[in-house]
Amino acid sequence: MSLLEEYEIGCPSCGELVTVVIDKSILQQEYTEDCFVCCRPMIISVNLNNEYNEVSCFSEVEIP
Ligand SMILES: [Zn+2]
Repeated sequence: MSLLEEYEIGCPSCGELVTVVIDKSILQQEYTEDCFVCCRPMIISVNLNNEYNEVSCFSEVEIP
């Protein structure tokens, strides 16, 4: 079963809105995707286990 849904999130690096497609059949997932605008990696964190259906993103920890 696959339940794809599009989410708009703000890129943590450049602030642009980017659209990501979340597979809602997976209740908890975390993956890295490159921003379409600035090409920096961002970590997409999905938690559908609670009532808030949380989708958030973080910038990846920068390598010094
Ligand atoms: Zn960006």
